[in-house]
Amino acid sequence: MKQLLEKWECFNDLCGHSFLVDKETAKGKHLTCPFCEQNAEAVAHQNPDADLETQLEGCLYPY
Ligand SMILES: [Zn+2]
Repeated sequence: MKQLLEKWECFNDLCGHSFLVDKETAKGKHLTCPFCEQNAEAVAHQNPDADLETQLEGCLYPY
């Protein structure tokens, strides 16, 4: 099964990083930014029928 990713963005204006999280990993969780450890929110979901990995910029959440 193909791994689905979500794009998350950091709430911290001074940081502003975005990162990708495996959808199953992020499920039901409230993740924090891996760069500054502030709150982050999911901003985009990958469509199972489309390959959006090239459109999603960022790096994988290291968990
Ligand atoms: Zn951050």
